[in-house]
Amino acid sequence: MRAEAETEARRIDGAAIARRVRERVAAEVAELKAHGVTPGLSVVLVGDDPASAVYVRHKTADCEEVGMRGQQIRMPASTTEAELLAVVDRLNADPAVHGILVQMPVPRQIDPAAVIARIDPDKDVDGFHPTNVGRVYVGDAGGFAPCTPAGVMVMLREAGVELRGAEVVVLGRSNIVGKPMAALLVQPGVDATVTVCHSRTRDVAEHTRRADVIIAAIGRARFVTADMVKPGAVVIDVGMNRIDDPTTKSGTRLVGDVDFDAVRRVASAITPVPGGVGPMTRAMLLDNTLRAARRTAGLPPRGSLA
Ligand code: NAP
Repeated sequence: MRAEAETEARRIDGAAIARRVRERVAAEVAELKAHGVTPGLSVVLVGDDPASAVYVRHKTADCEEVGMRGQQIRMPASTTEAELLAVVDRLNADPAVHGILVQMPVPRQIDPAAVIARIDPDKDVDGFHPTNVGRVYVGDAGGFAPCTPAGVMVMLREAGVELRGAEVVVLGRSNIVGKPMAALLVQPGVDATVTVCHSRTRDVAEHTRRADVIIAAIGRARFVTADMVKPGAVVIDVGMNRIDDPTTKSGTRLVGDVDFDAVRRVASAITPVPGGVGPMTRAMLLDNTLRAARRTAGLPPRGSLA
């Protein structure tokens, strides 16, 4: 028992770090309001997917909590692409709207790429517009990084993880997590050496075993096992997977991409699921919206947190 306790990884508390981000954002919102600007985020939801509806409610409620204006725009599942683009155009032109987010996925008749490309890059607080993808890639601090990788960067910094020269292995190459994560880590000043693994990677474990930091974002429950982790490594779990669990009231439970109970005995620090990356993602959306509003107010840009 004693030996186990001695080798247990430090838990990186995403909920606590996210709370600090929200407090800082709330203070800056108050400052902006004194300049006559109330930061505003508009979230567009097309259709009635219950999970998406919950996400959208959280996003707007988070805004209100820090003193921003959070607006929900609900559109029916039958909405055409032209109708959605017209709403985006209206929000682009509205000076009271600083951040625009169209909740994904959108119904089949709408091309998500066309919608993302239509959002004014300076209001694209999700960081999905190709202009922001490029800005992040070239290290332009004025760009918006997608909220999840931006949140991971803040967590790593707050947890005091040394990234300079570190071997970081990112599992997953999606446009919303894996690829921008790698782009942020490789920037001069961060200076990590980055490997990105995906479903065609020959031997994922061969890469993870030499990693100082593993960032798992693949959507496979408990994929990263203890034998894949170098002793002392830092493990960030982005995954959110619902698995069956008859012992809970709902019959399901949320787990990450990492086998938490086993890996925490090998790693030096680890993020839990829930309570790790999830709250950071939400907090970084507020931070991106704040940065968008500062720009509109003509206040000096604050560099990207990420
Ligand atoms: P995604 O678009 O489905 O991408 C998954 C990636 O993982 C793909 O690049 C895929 O490779 C790779 N992959 C799948 N199986 C693999 C395997 N066995 N070995 C190696 N690579 C594998 O997912 P995502 O949107 O990036 O999300 C990833 C996870 O993070 C999900 O669990 C999601 O729910 C979670 N997530 C959490 C937050 C949060 O706030 N906490 C935010 C976003 C996402 P290919 O490209 O070759 O298919």
